[in-house]
Amino acid sequence: MESRIEPIVCHYGAAGRVMAYYVDAPCPTLIDTGGAAHPEGPIRAALQARGTDLAALGAIINTHGHWDHAGGNAATVAASGAGVLIHEFGAPLLFDHRAHLDGYYTEAQRALEQPALVAAQRATFPTIFGAEMVPGRLLRDGDRMDLGAGVTLQAIHVPGHSEDAIALWWEQEGILFAGDAAQGTGSRPGAGPLYFASIAQARASIARLRALPFRTLYTSHFFGRTSTMERAARYDTAEGRAFLDESSRRARSGGRGVASGAAGGSGRADLLAPRTRRDRASDRQHRLGSRRRSAHRCPGQSCPDPLPAVAGDRALSGRTANDAE
Ligand SMILES: [Zn+2]
Repeated sequence: MESRIEPIVCHYGAAGRVMAYYVDAPCPTLIDTGGAAHPEGPIRAALQARGTDLAALGAIINTHGHWDHAGGNAATVAASGAGVLIHEFGAPLLFDHRAHLDGYYTEAQRALEQPALVAAQRATFPTIFGAEMVPGRLLRDGDRMDLGAGVTLQAIHVPGHSEDAIALWWEQEGILFAGDAAQGTGSRPGAGPLYFASIAQARASIARLRALPFRTLYTSHFFGRTSTMERAARYDTAEGRAFLDESSRRARSGGRGVASGAAGGSGRADLLAPRTRRDRASDRQHRLGSRRRSAHRCPGQSCPDPLPAVAGDRALSGRTANDAE
């Protein structure tokens, strides 16, 4: 079953690496999309090497909305028409670029109180994050996504690095995708782990992951590992437990997060309170949804009802997998 997972290394900057994971299921799914240029680069190449292509994708699940995990959503949707799933707190990161520009993306520069640095950082954003877009389904803790043939991923809300972070748990196979929730010694040598939400949340989230009986753990960066190969993001049970223990120790000692360190504040990113944010998300998504929905092809053509409509306020765009165009 493990061969159903294709790890894809996406490079950025001088030495940055972020993972996307292809899940070979009746609903072909991509976990994270890298930055704006990655779908047409390493992701398409990896899928073609497996005999498939971006166009076949039926679903995109973001572990969180940061640029290096969701920046390629728009390009992937353009190529595939796939539906996008993200934790409800991450929706603004997909349909309102200001959530990045006024939040984590410029947090370090704002902490230094140098407007020129902030402006320079903001100017890079359009090159790494695609167009604003509407998620097809908003996730909450515990939600299950049935991709067919026994591939069921459960969303586990693991805030700390970001408020919208989820891990994905494929219980039947003991496979856990942890995203950026646990960071070991950090993704860059000497930089330490980053907590844009709160360190207290991160500790609790790592404890939740530690309690799961996983056989394989996949992370979204090469946290503390020097290999340049994709296996640097893959841990067996013993390695994974040691990694989570190290992550927990780092979180206990405070780490050196942008939010907790450089900004010197409460450890919270400069974001709206969840309730207010959700209200705004609803308003904005209704507007964007009516404008853009028609641009999306129905993912249900390749996915037999993989993304059942959600009830109530979570179905913000009113779009379901069966909304054929
Ligand atoms: Zn992140």
